[in-house]
Amino acid sequence: LQRTLALVKPDAVLSGHAANIKVDIEAAGFRIISERELRLSPEFVKRFYAEHAGRHFFEGLVDFMSSGQTLALVLERHDAVAAWRAMMGPTDSAAARGTFPDSMRAKYGTDGRRNAVHGSESVDRAREEIRMVFEEFTEE
Ligand code: ATP
Ligand code: MG
Repeated sequence: LQRTLALVKPDAVLSGHAANIKVDIEAAGFRIISERELRLSPEFVKRFYAEHAGRHFFEGLVDFMSSGQTLALVLERHDAVAAWRAMMGPTDSAAARGTFPDSMRAKYGTDGRRNAVHGSESVDRAREEIRMVFEEFTEE
């Protein structure tokens, strides 16, 4: 079994989709191992998404991800990293509705930035992200 980090982003929490997203996750065979609701700081988001520093969407991403409550979930399943990435769907929710209408981003997101969910890219990165969100991050 493998673990990955899922984030229900502020748009989806604010729209009341968190409970339905958890139902979909468990229906897909994941076990929710840990759960934490938190409001990410801009400083934390900049570290979490450091790979995108300097991209045209970076400032908007930092503002969005620190705009409200986020629900963090540790998911466990066979092949969890790839399975959750596939279930999320393409980055742009509007595009996802055309190509992957059953995906999380198609069902629960809005556009290219407000796309409802995050998932780790690799097993190593999942371990790192779980540590960042569940052990290191503290709210003021
Ligand atoms: P995530 O890393 O959040 O799981 P992802 O891996 O599908 O998403 P990335 O390329 O890593 O996509 O981008 C990180 C996040 O930055 C996206 O999920 C989205 O919120 C935002 N983003 C990416 N590209 C754009 C864009 N062109 N315009 C606006 N926001 C964007
Ligand atoms: Mg990414």
